[in-house]
Amino acid sequence: MLIAGNWKMFKGAAEAAAFCRGLREAALPDGVDVVVAPPFPSLAASVQALAGTEIGVFAQNCHWEREGAFTGEVSAPMLRELGVYGTIVGHSERRQWFGETDETVARRAAAALEDGLHVIACVGETLEEREAGKTHDVLRRQVGALEHDENLVIAYEPVWAIGTGRTATPQMADEAHETVKSLLDVPVLYGGSVKPGNAAELLAGPAVDGALVGGASLDLEPFLEICRAATPS
Ligand code: PEP
Repeated sequence: MLIAGNWKMFKGAAEAAAFCRGLREAALPDGVDVVVAPPFPSLAASVQALAGTEIGVFAQNCHWEREGAFTGEVSAPMLRELGVYGTIVGHSERRQWFGETDETVARRAAAALEDGLHVIACVGETLEEREAGKTHDVLRRQVGALEHDENLVIAYEPVWAIGTGRTATPQMADEAHETVKSLLDVPVLYGGSVKPGNAAELLAGPAVDGALVGGASLDLEPFLEICRAATPS
């Protein structure tokens, strides 16, 4: 079981370090891997605050080139040099607001994996796509762009459930996870308004290997409650 906190554009270095110090002092359940994904400027402070623990620090994105004229981007070797353990790629907010496509997401994932980072690649349908009965086609297209790797994890995040308070039913999540796993044999996390009150139920599905948590990962206590709700797989 993996519980990953995506902090999006929240928490500067001081706030991130304070959270990480709290996390390192907390009792985390055995068999549950926990990672946090702070914004770029807070990565170094987070790595430092979690040094010597099993809690990994992830970036929220990573470019496919190792260096070059790509203003505003950050590469895998730069992240590795900081002690960052992995990166999220293809979050729906990046697809929606920053022009990420299946192709760019796949290139980012491949480059990060090649340079030794672990990767959480996000997939998921919009409300319009679900209502049009296209969920499985969308997943096939998004997952089909990625290649299997032992350090790759996929996060199934229905776009209509992210930050909205709406969640997929455990059955919807499990069905989508089965589709993803039939395409790529990798662990699959559920993401979309996971909270302490619904985590146990969502994480109980046989095809659910953990959660990618946005809003509820910003405060320590709810995040810890979600970690405790995860039963080791
Ligand atoms: C996310 O950012 O990946 C996410 C799932 O957000 P939230 O938990 O706030 O819906």
